[in-house]
Amino acid sequence: MALTTRRSSIRIAVGGIMTECNHFGGLPIDIGSYEASTLHRGNQVLQHTTSVVGGMLHALRGQEAKPVPLIFASMCSAGPMTRECYLQLKDELFERLKQALPVDGVLLPLHGSALVDGLDDPEGDLIHAARDLVGPDRPIVVTLDLHAHVTEQMVRHADALIAWETYPHHDQYTTGQRATQLLFDMLAGKYRPTMAMGKVPVITSAIHGSTIGDDPFADLMRYTKSMEQRDRVLSTSLFLIHPYMDCEDMGSGGLVITDNDPALAELLAGDIAGRYWERRHDLEPESFTPILAIRKGLRVAGGPVILVEAADCCGGGAAGDSIAALSALVDCDIDVPSIVPVVDPEAAAECHAAGQGAELSIPIGHKLDPRWGSSRLFTGRVEHLSNGDFTYTGGQWDGHHEHMGATAVFTIGSVRVVIMSRATYDWADEQIQTVGLDPTHAKFIVAKNPMNYRLAYGDHAKAVMILDTKGPTPTTLKHVKFRNLRRPYFPADVDIPGLRPTILK
Ligand SMILES: [Zn+2]
Repeated sequence: MALTTRRSSIRIAVGGIMTECNHFGGLPIDIGSYEASTLHRGNQVLQHTTSVVGGMLHALRGQEAKPVPLIFASMCSAGPMTRECYLQLKDELFERLKQALPVDGVLLPLHGSALVDGLDDPEGDLIHAARDLVGPDRPIVVTLDLHAHVTEQMVRHADALIAWETYPHHDQYTTGQRATQLLFDMLAGKYRPTMAMGKVPVITSAIHGSTIGDDPFADLMRYTKSMEQRDRVLSTSLFLIHPYMDCEDMGSGGLVITDNDPALAELLAGDIAGRYWERRHDLEPESFTPILAIRKGLRVAGGPVILVEAADCCGGGAAGDSIAALSALVDCDIDVPSIVPVVDPEAAAECHAAGQGAELSIPIGHKLDPRWGSSRLFTGRVEHLSNGDFTYTGGQWDGHHEHMGATAVFTIGSVRVVIMSRATYDWADEQIQTVGLDPTHAKFIVAKNPMNYRLAYGDHAKAVMILDTKGPTPTTLKHVKFRNLRRPYFPADVDIPGLRPTILK
């Protein structure tokens, strides 16, 4: 594996299939879903200048190596991928890799919590397939989201797994660079990575999962990262598993890569997992019914008060079509300005057909994923219409043009409902800004994500209330009926006598 050839002749394959999937809700991901978001082939992959692929390409060019682009497919969270979609993308990815052989190494930008209909570990499957093609001596370095479900297959077949260090996620670019640097250090014969993952069955939502300030996860991340200062430690990663999957052996914890010292990797990974277990109670959020949250919010001077309807998080795979918070705001009959997003293509189309200024009664909500409630007839006025186009201002999709499809602002009393045709990932508040609403003038804003509302409103929110509502991305996993995830797990089981971290290696 030693680097004996000129660097300009080093060829590194780059490609991946990236998304995060939900077993409890969301629409299935098919090939059209990727085509509507990001599906880049061959030289199109080389155009990436941001996010993880941008970071990998920048680092490869800095090493004067030649990137060999495969395909890169990426989209917002949703239900599991269809088998047909996965197999089509996988075939194309590896057909391109086969044509490109021999390569000196492989970089796989993946998520770690994708699902396929009938296959719970597509990332492990992809890494395994890459290993079969390139053989045991070519390094395979994989980047993951820190919400990955790290499996034995992933640990066994990759040389190194390296995760984002930030949530809200804004370090995809530098993660791509770190992964590429490690791959080059391996090619140069500098390091021989040995890897272990320590897991404990802690399944919580991401509400207290920030890596900033005094959140428990931030503490754990600082502890995990401090280990990178130790001799022979090449990289450490901390994982809060994406909790809305139903797979065996789910858990959170730490992954440690050492230089040819598997015992040290196991020891440190087990130590991180042990600490994670100790902080489990701090990771469970306090939540309120929407009506109680609104009452509490009314006692807060000024606004905005953020009502976090995390159970309907499009970024976690939900359809975004819940009206639990909307109904509570309307039922409270309060004359304060409020903003609520709802995905409902039929209602959006009716607003567009009626035209701006029209008054009408339309059923809104729970049509895309009706398992969590029923639509309700609301009477209001069409205040604004748009095509729903906007551009992300940060994060993984920084600069990416996104489309909500036909979008309307529908006013019910003092509540402004942003009715969108397509679910999109929340970074800050691009979706609200693009329809001309000013969040600083709202008393209540419904945010349908567990974390990124802090980016949009963290500086000026007067209060934040976590809502206890139904949906495929709930604030606690205590009451979820898992079929494949075995008991005991926290928070359904508060104490697990004799628990020891599971070590994957
Ligand atoms: Zn994530």
